Amino acid sequence: MSAKIIDGKAVAAKVRGTIRKTVDQLVAQGKRRPGLAVVLVGEDPASQVYVRNKKKACLEVGFADFSYELPADASEKEVLALIDQLNEHAEVDGILVQLPVPDHIDPNKIIERIHPSKDVDGFHPYNMGRLATRNPQLAPCTPHGVMTLLAETGEPIRGKNAVVVGASNIVGVPMALELLNARATVTVCHSATQDLPGKVGEAEILVVGVGIPEMVKGEWIKPGAIVIDVGINRLDDGRLVGDVEFETARERAGWITPVPGGVGPMTIATLLENTLTAYKLREAME
Ligand code: NDP
Repeated sequence: MSAKIIDGKAVAAKVRGTIRKTVDQLVAQGKRRPGLAVVLVGEDPASQVYVRNKKKACLEVGFADFSYELPADASEKEVLALIDQLNEHAEVDGILVQLPVPDHIDPNKIIERIHPSKDVDGFHPYNMGRLATRNPQLAPCTPHGVMTLLAETGEPIRGKNAVVVGASNIVGVPMALELLNARATVTVCHSATQDLPGKVGEAEILVVGVGIPEMVKGEWIKPGAIVIDVGINRLDDGRLVGDVEFETARERAGWITPVPGGVGPMTIATLLENTLTAYKLREAME
């Protein structure tokens, strides 16, 4: 048996197409375009690629781009002042500060300074709290995008055993909350978990976001499982691989996401969805 591939690139393109249509309708009605501000501090090469892709996607769907690039030695005060300015800006609906920020800047201060109604990354404690209380508004993009990919399989989530490997604030924890809200029975694994292969083996839905190339072995996977690989790792030979050993995993899984072309494009499409949601929330308030 070979797993069916969940084509994140295709699903993301479909989502972007729907957003583009909505923006075209707004513009035809004489309304302003949704606006997104992506802020990059410093010159981390991976962050530069992510920011470039986000800006490109933003323009493709017809959003207005209000991006900023600050030098690596920009002070915390300067970054906070820029966020204050963007919070007040009438045409900016979404603000995203690309993480990680340089060491002299506290990422929590940055996250908490963004107004929750413009927090399109969904990392503000207010938005995390709403997700945790089953009343989400702007949910973290990567896990929410994974839910869109799971929906695409047509398989029910309710009642399934779901295992999340990784427990970070941006991937594992909000992923577990999303799955819990969809009424899966959720196990969260992290660096102190005992018998990881045994835990993985119980998963009917497996989501892995750890950052260790091909750590989850195909032989651990329950036959027929849905496997979502969030990991993006660049090997010394230049290849991009996930956190799951793809070739062996696809022999056992029922469904699997490739790396690249799985979760990555969906994360950006979900950022655009969140920006449109933030726009609608603000328009409804005015
Ligand atoms: P972090 O480093 O913040 O978190 C890694 C998590 O993995 C931690 O919870 C850690 O446990 C856990 N972990 C580490 N080692 C093990 C182990 N041996 N067994 C089980 N769990 C372990 O990473 P992120 O969450 O930010 O990112 C994870 C991966 O996802 C990376 O490859 C990243 O590039 C990718 N990513 C992809 C995105 C996309 O759009 N596709 C978006 C964001 C991230 P503990 O909490 O105990 O330390």
